[in-house]
Amino acid sequence: MIEGLKINLAESDFEYLRQAALHANGDGEWERELSLFNTVSSIDLLLKARLAKKHWSQVFADPNRATPEHLKQGDVLSVDFASTIKRLKDEAGVTLDPYDERTIPLLWYHRNRIQYCGLNVQRPAILSLIVYGLDFAVNFARSELSDIMDDRRQAVVQDVAAQISGYHDILADRWDSVVRDMEFAFRRDDVADCPCCLHETLIVYDEEDPDANPRCLFCEFSDSPCEIASEIAWPRRPRDCPYCGRPTLVYMGEATKALEWLCFACGQSYDPNELLNSMTVVYGPEECPECGERYLVLEFMANDDWAWGEWRCLSCDRIGEHQRCDRCGHMRAIGPDGICLSCSDASVEGDTS
Ligand SMILES: [Zn+2]
Ligand SMILES: [Zn+2]
Ligand SMILES: [Zn+2]
Ligand SMILES: [Zn+2]
Repeated sequence: MIEGLKINLAESDFEYLRQAALHANGDGEWERELSLFNTVSSIDLLLKARLAKKHWSQVFADPNRATPEHLKQGDVLSVDFASTIKRLKDEAGVTLDPYDERTIPLLWYHRNRIQYCGLNVQRPAILSLIVYGLDFAVNFARSELSDIMDDRRQAVVQDVAAQISGYHDILADRWDSVVRDMEFAFRRDDVADCPCCLHETLIVYDEEDPDANPRCLFCEFSDSPCEIASEIAWPRRPRDCPYCGRPTLVYMGEATKALEWLCFACGQSYDPNELLNSMTVVYGPEECPECGERYLVLEFMANDDWAWGEWRCLSCDRIGEHQRCDRCGHMRAIGPDGICLSCSDASVEGDTS
């Protein structure tokens, strides 16, 4: 019975995938929006189908409290995206490309903005988002779910892949007509990935027109530096730029090859060392348990009501669930006793020997 339910989970996502691909460039705005919604749903279900392959309880927010009855009744309080990615890594041994890990949440972000805020996304941008999502879905299905794909599902994936290549042609035409002549006018460092269409065509700072908002050559998206910085940093927060002082400094990581931190107001860029040297550090730097680099610093944040401290890494920008271990003094994930796992293991070994 559970076996059957597992397969159903994977079956419906292939139908979402087919529908998403059919309407990605439809004439009606609602058609394209529906296609984006279906793309998001199909990725969500494909990732969960992969988790369910490990164990069906993994698609529940709390696997320990999941019962076969809950699953049969569709009473699924489903695991969120961040936890899905973490479980894929920790439980199922599936690691996503860092670019995908950063980019897939943008599909959710735009879906929510369309669905709940009534905002629309320009046609070239929504097609770019859908094509990226479908590409990811097809590759993920082929690499991670081939064992549960029967002939019918294989055929859907085949059809979708063929449609994607047609959409790539449409996007390439737009690139040729809109971007090609303009891209050489801008220095490489001034360009970042656009959060709307995902092309590396967002002009961050224009020396000719320093007060202009960042704008995308490909999809014409434009917004204030603060809005764009928050959007790109999401679900993290931008930091204050040491040069211009505005809260518009964003970790770009793997998104750009040349820089690690980029300010969307003044165009200044920093590597972790430059950033460390230009800020006042309260504690640190310590070795970051996430990336291993010695760029973990304690910062104090304040709003009108209260202030709080947060350890955040200047090299990978991850805010881990770590604190200083009472015993060894390292920054680690610590238990309720205030000491880290390796210190607890060492003391257990000490007790038994
Ligand atoms: Zn764009
Ligand atoms: Zn700045
Ligand atoms: Zn780090
Ligand atoms: Zn320790």
